[in-house]
Formats: sequence, structure tokens, C-alpha cells
Amino acid sequence: MNTQAEAQDAASGLHAVRAEVLSSCRDAGRDPATVTLVAVSKTFPAPEIVPVLAAGQRVFGENRVQEAQGKWPALRADYQGVELHLIGPLQSNKAREAVELFDVIHTVDRPKIAAALAGEMARQGRNPRLFVQVNTGAEPQKAGVLPETADAFIAECRERHGLKIFGLMCIPPATDVPDPHFALLAKIAARNGISGLSMGMSADFPAAIRQGATHVRVGSAIFGHRSLPNEA
Ligand SMILES: *Cc1c(COP(=O)(O)O)cnc(C)c1O
Repeated sequence: MNTQAEAQDAASGLHAVRAEVLSSCRDAGRDPATVTLVAVSKTFPAPEIVPVLAAGQRVFGENRVQEAQGKWPALRADYQGVELHLIGPLQSNKAREAVELFDVIHTVDRPKIAAALAGEMARQGRNPRLFVQVNTGAEPQKAGVLPETADAFIAECRERHGLKIFGLMCIPPATDVPDPHFALLAKIAARNGISGLSMGMSADFPAAIRQGATHVRVGSAIFGHRSLPNEA
């Protein structure tokens, strides 16, 4: 495969996705400044990420702590102002590395993780913005708190661990129309006084923007197909 051609594709993918984010905001009557595009670079090696950085993108998502540790320190040394988002499941024994490396963590979903993050944030004096993942489809194999336990978990994060919850995140079931899941996430956020909504991927980010997404996580529409399955 021609790596240079792929790299150019990623930059043109970025431009196409940015244009669609803008038009979705326009259709929804929303200010584009309220929607952050998180370019999901998981599975892609640094040479395929560089053209997207060179095209000006600075917000990236990775779903594995170890993979991100391998790629991002060097890329950050070359490009100023990178903001790194953890969008995959977090193990409590990786909390130290996660707090060191990431600016935003989208996948807080159990008391043990909340406690581990609170401890590391205090120890390191770093405050990544935190999102609570909600399993809106109540899928047994999927991470996230159930919708009916979300309020209690958010309260526990705040009161017991002193964590500020910046947003909520969901990944709707692949086979469902996503809109009701996005609407449910927005409703849980509103009743808990939470403003961030991380929702929408390559297949459905325009719908997520219509439902109020503040962060859309877009991978394959920018970088192309992932040859390695690396699902959350
Ligand atoms: C991989 C992944 C994405 C991006 O998915 P695409 O369909 O490639 O846009 C978004 N969110 C999470 C949690 C992911 O794991």
C-alpha cells in the first residue's frame, strides 16, 4: 500500500468530516464552536497521524493507554497543543498512566475507577476532564453505568471522590437507531447539571450533533478502515 496516498486521504477525510460537522451545526442551529471533533487515531501508527496533525487537527482519541503511550509522547514533542482523549475502557491499575497522558477521560464507569482517578489526580496535581460512560442500550458486553444507576454514580463521583464530572459519554448499540440513545444521554446530563455530551461516531455524528453532542468521536471517516479490530 502507498502510505503517502493514505496519509493524504486522512487529511482529506479530516476536511470532509469538518465540513460535515459545520453543516450539521448549521442545520441544527448550533454554534460550531460548541462541538469538538475528536479524531480517533486508535490502531493507526504515527506516520498516518502526522498528516492530520499537519492539517491542523489537535484533538485526538485513543482507546488503549499502552498504545497511546507508545505513539503520543513523540508526536506531542513535534506538535504543540495536542489534547488527548481516552475513549476506551480504563483499568484501575492503569489510572496513573492515564492521568499522566490524557487530558480528557470519557470512560469513568465504576467506583473503583473513580477512586483510582481521584487518588492519582491528587497525587499528580493533574485534572483531566472526566466523562461518565452510560450504557444507554443496557448491553451486557458493553462498558458504562446503566441509565437507571447513572444519577447515583454521578453523585458518588462528586460527593465521595470530589470529582468534577464534565460530561457523559455513550456508544449506542450498533443495530439501533442512535437518536433515542443520544436523547436519553442528553436527558440524564441535563437533570444532573452536566454540560458535556460525548456522542456520535463516523456513522452517526450528524444525528448526535442534532441531539446536542459537544464532542463527536470520529475515526474511520477520517483515517479510513481499521485493519485491526480494536473495539471498546
Ligand atoms: C473506535 C471508536 C470510535 C470511532 O469509531 P468510528 O466508527 O471509526 O468513527 C468512537 N468512540 C469509541 C469509544 C471508539 O472505540
